[in-house]
Amino acid sequence: MLKNDPLEQWDRDHFLHPSTHLAEFARGNVAHRIVSGGEGSHIVDRNGTRLLDGFAGLYCVNVGYGRREIADAIAKQARELSYYHSYVGHGTEASVTLAHMILERAPANMSKVFFGLGGSDANETNIKLIWYMNNILGRPGKKKIISRWRGYHGSGLMSGSLTGLPLFHKAFDLPLAPILHTEAPYYYRRPNADMSEEAFSAWCASELEAMIQREGPDTIAAFWAEPVLGTGGIVPPPEGYWAAIQEVLDRHDILLVADEVITGFGRLGTMFGSDHYGMKPDVITIAKGLTSAYAPLSGSVLSEKVWKVLEQGTDEMGAIGHGWTYSAHPIGAAAGVANLKLIDELGLIDNAAEVGAHLRAGMRDALGEHPNVGDIRGEGMLCAVELVSDRESKEGFDPSRKVTVNAVAHLMENGVIGRAMPHSETIGFAPPFCLTRDEADEIVAKTAAAVKAVL
Ligand code: PLP
Repeated sequence: MLKNDPLEQWDRDHFLHPSTHLAEFARGNVAHRIVSGGEGSHIVDRNGTRLLDGFAGLYCVNVGYGRREIADAIAKQARELSYYHSYVGHGTEASVTLAHMILERAPANMSKVFFGLGGSDANETNIKLIWYMNNILGRPGKKKIISRWRGYHGSGLMSGSLTGLPLFHKAFDLPLAPILHTEAPYYYRRPNADMSEEAFSAWCASELEAMIQREGPDTIAAFWAEPVLGTGGIVPPPEGYWAAIQEVLDRHDILLVADEVITGFGRLGTMFGSDHYGMKPDVITIAKGLTSAYAPLSGSVLSEKVWKVLEQGTDEMGAIGHGWTYSAHPIGAAAGVANLKLIDELGLIDNAAEVGAHLRAGMRDALGEHPNVGDIRGEGMLCAVELVSDRESKEGFDPSRKVTVNAVAHLMENGVIGRAMPHSETIGFAPPFCLTRDEADEIVAKTAAAVKAVL
């Protein structure tokens, strides 16, 4: 800590940090850090400590820190036109260009983009647009939404309800109805050890089918899911999962909303997770990787099928009653345009696929036989190491031991940021796409040392 640094005091006295144990923070028991710089895959704090950011902030600084091309585009936009709204048919050069670039990259049936600020508000928008759609189609009873336990879709009023993590519901009285949660496709934690991946996928689809039958197919508007579960533990779907789910949804005329806030724009080593798994979404939620977090921006990407009904709706009801002051903010849009160009120019998606696979292979070599490592999984530039007290029973640890938290603290002391995934004993990595093989090797070596230090 810098001597007599007023920021340290102001941080404690004035700043309410998200996702933080507030009382422990006030007592000085939460390791905190004021970050002042970043370059490539590293950040630097006010004390001059340099850390390899194995989580790209919050799975979002996909192109890495300190990209001059994006900083220059933001500065140029701020100089030329810092703001104009997008209401009543207005736009800016940056926002129109970005909408076009998103649709060039999105799955084939996508047609329009509504811009917001973050993943939570984009999911709120999507719920509203889907409800609006079913009102226009004359089926006002088709409004329930099914998401999954362990899914993360934000922490707004409805997006927090979509999130399938009880911590986000109970203490805030979030309305769970009309949201329902079905099984997570968490193969490692399957109900029966003898199930193949395909059999487990079929079981997940049958659980979904049973829920739909119980509630009545005419009451269910949409199924909401991340292509790979993120905050719920970095869990890729088992073989055959998306095909089995898609079949159920198609049969009951239920929309699929792919929440690609993490997976969109390359994290799985392909442009979109939907393409990666052959999903056929009707709506896609995007945020984080859209601008690599150089500015806040999110989007609701709508298929032609959904869009057509919205268009028809305004003929019946007048201008659509939805929008934010900062929808399509030109500075965010300029960051997005520069970011998507950079991803293409530097071939960063291929690098994410290649170095991500190297990272997981290294992790398996280093920790695959460790008696307390139950599962090593991931896809693209995502990697998770799940810790167990016993590989046979897959039992976790007494939470008071804080095994994962301590492992991640050890990792951090040695210069690498990983994430103690908050809802399982899992160390997560979601590095920037520009990660090098040497940096991946460093993450592996230091993770192995951290696990061995705490277990
Ligand atoms: N959806 C997913 C899949 C996410 O991972 C997140 C954030 O981590 C969100 C939505 C919410 O995004 P935001 O925090 O920008 O509101």
